[in-house]
Amino acid sequence: MMRYGIPSYRRPRPILNAEIACIGRMGVRISLNRRVDQVEIENQLGDFDAVFVAIGAHLGEQVDIPKRDAGKVLDAVPGIFAGGDVTPGTRSVTYATGHGGKAAHCIHAWLNQRTWQKPPSSALVPYEKLHLWYHTEANSQAQPMLAAEQRQRGFDEVLQGFDKDRTRYEASRCYCCGNCFECDACYGGCPEGAIGILDTGHGYRIDYELCTGCGACIAQCPSHAISLFSRPNQPTGANT
Ligand SMILES: Cc1cc2nc3c(=O)[nH]c(=O)nc-3n(C[C@H](O)[C@H](O)[C@H](O)COP(=O)(O)OP(=O)(O)OC[C@H]3O[C@@H](n4cnc5c(N)ncnc54)[C@H](O)[C@@H]3O)c2cc1C
Ligand code: SF4
Ligand code: SF4
Repeated sequence: MMRYGIPSYRRPRPILNAEIACIGRMGVRISLNRRVDQVEIENQLGDFDAVFVAIGAHLGEQVDIPKRDAGKVLDAVPGIFAGGDVTPGTRSVTYATGHGGKAAHCIHAWLNQRTWQKPPSSALVPYEKLHLWYHTEANSQAQPMLAAEQRQRGFDEVLQGFDKDRTRYEASRCYCCGNCFECDACYGGCPEGAIGILDTGHGYRIDYELCTGCGACIAQCPSHAISLFSRPNQPTGANT
């Protein structure tokens, strides 16, 4: 649908082609003009580990998806998952892409005999809890706008968006409120050496035997990603 439904001025084809090529380079084999009529039979014939059905909104009624009447296609049959427009809810590329990510988690967990649970979101952190002395003052940039006379001559986007460098700049202004972005400030600020660094992307481990609950790490943390909590019959400890 992104190629034949969404107009090219909204979804430039060179970008779409590049994204499909990128998916191919990741090892996905794409079979074009290959119609699937019976999902379970195809699954058995192909000896697949799992199936993800993403057939869009238009042809969904014609395909025999087992237990579709159950109203919950996703997870309704073991090993068969579904997402995008074929499932109920908002129909847009953003949602379809999100369903793909969620399905990847669910399928990975299912193959490992587990069930995937979305991790809970961090608590909302208000502005006054941030420690902003770490941050450089960096103003937001205005996005370029198409001149009024040009808008009447075509379908080019009025709000032109940012190029790669400007996008990076805007992303770097994020305060990451409530989320650890691994700046090591708490690690450097802990007087007890209670905070250990894990691999990149895996955060830190706090040794509760060493932690005195002094709160220095919290004072150091720009994004208020650490909190102190009390454990029954034990001293207060930090938690990141
Ligand atoms: C005219 C139009 C304009 C839109 N504009 C926007 C927009 O500007 N922005 C936005 O975010 N969203 C837009 N959308 C919605 C967006 O296109 C969809 O939400 C999105 O493409 C859904 O992705 P999907 O993978 O679930 O399904 P699709 O993109 O529909 O892909 C389903 C694929 O499955 C194939 N298929 C179907 N049945 C079978 C079968 N039996 N066997 C094998 N293959 C099969 C189809 O051929 C198709 O390639 C628009 C939709 C339409 C119709
Ligand atoms: S609260 Fe614990 S982890 Fe944080 S700085 Fe103090 S001793 Fe270190
Ligand atoms: S918890 Fe805070 S101070 Fe520690 S690394 Fe993460 S963002 Fe930096």
